[in-house]
Amino acid sequence: MPTILIIGAGLSGLTAARELTRQGHTVTLLDKGRGIGGRLATRRLGNGRADHGAQYFSAQSPEFHALTQEMSQAGVVHEWHLEQSDPAGFRHPRWVGSEGMNSIAKYLAQGLDVQTECTVTRIAPAKTGWTLTTTEQDNTRIFSADVLLITVPAPQALALCDASGLALAEADKAALEAIHYAPCLAVMLQLNGPSQLPEPGGLKQTDGDDQHSPVAWLADNAQKGISPNQTTVTLHASHAFSQAHLDDPDQQALIPLLTADVTHYIPADSIVDRQIHRWRYSNAIKRHPTPFLSAQAHAPLLFGGDGFGNGNVEGAFLSGLAMGKRVQGLKSKV
Ligand SMILES: Cc1cc2nc3c(=O)[nH]c(=O)nc-3n(C[C@H](O)[C@H](O)[C@H](O)COP(=O)(O)OP(=O)(O)OC[C@H]3O[C@@H](n4cnc5c(N)ncnc54)[C@H](O)[C@@H]3O)c2cc1C
Repeated sequence: MPTILIIGAGLSGLTAARELTRQGHTVTLLDKGRGIGGRLATRRLGNGRADHGAQYFSAQSPEFHALTQEMSQAGVVHEWHLEQSDPAGFRHPRWVGSEGMNSIAKYLAQGLDVQTECTVTRIAPAKTGWTLTTTEQDNTRIFSADVLLITVPAPQALALCDASGLALAEADKAALEAIHYAPCLAVMLQLNGPSQLPEPGGLKQTDGDDQHSPVAWLADNAQKGISPNQTTVTLHASHAFSQAHLDDPDQQALIPLLTADVTHYIPADSIVDRQIHRWRYSNAIKRHPTPFLSAQAHAPLLFGGDGFGNGNVEGAFLSGLAMGKRVQGLKSKV
């Protein structure tokens, strides 16, 4: 049975690894992060938690619905009733990780071989597959496998291929270049009391491109049910604000520009701690039409993630699942 390496232990990579492990393959996931989950990101703030990447997800496909039900029964996710405040905006159920969105990644990673703090810096063709070089500080490691799945955002995948001197076929390169992501600046606030956000604690302020407010989204993580002992609030800057300030050298200086706009929800004197995170790649706004790309190469090489297919959390899951099933179909050819 072919061995598999997966670059990226976000939802897409974890889902592919689960599917391939279930089929009996030997799978290793490599991720540059200190933890797993990628944009399923939850941070500790005082005695509380704040999700600063994905805020919630929907599960409309039968496959993701089944996993969501399994995770709900295991206490890993719960429903967030956003339709209470915006029935038109939230027509179907929205779900969240019960201890933050990262708990979904932790649940899925159980039993998998995940190597963290492993930045893949080079991809090289090997006789029967691929050899990857990972670098962390002074530590260089080599991994080899028959099949390679790349689940990092497409611009990062292209940069990695480029840095490796790996020439992709023109059509594959063009397909990856056509995928685009919006940036997002995320602020996490620890409060000394409740916020003034109305129930259920999640509020879209703009459609993302509207310039009238620099804050597009607010979430009270206590009301959301992921931070019971401490109120924390997540703010996402609008697309326009994030784009304009993405490369500002002093990111901390952006926090007051954002909080000043929402003092009616978050009184300035209630903020006791604040952090900002820059997402250069948040949501995939231009995506490849199919759930993954099978590249023309001497050995199986698949590109996937939320830039392929439906996008968002559910699209990342479906991409990972589709890649897992495709590798099963490759068995006889490797
Ligand atoms: C601010 C924000 C808000 C969002 N809101 C929502 C939402 O409310 N609902 C929703 O459905 N979706 C939302 N999304 C999108 C959602 O988070 C993503 O679609 C999904 O999590 C992507 O999963 P993925 O596995 O494709 O990619 P990722 O989660 O990005 O995983 C890729 C992994 O690759 C790793 N990596 C990158 N380069 C390397 C390398 N060279 N070597 C090793 N590892 C590497 C990264 O560390 C990362 O863990 C949001 C995203 C952001 C950032």
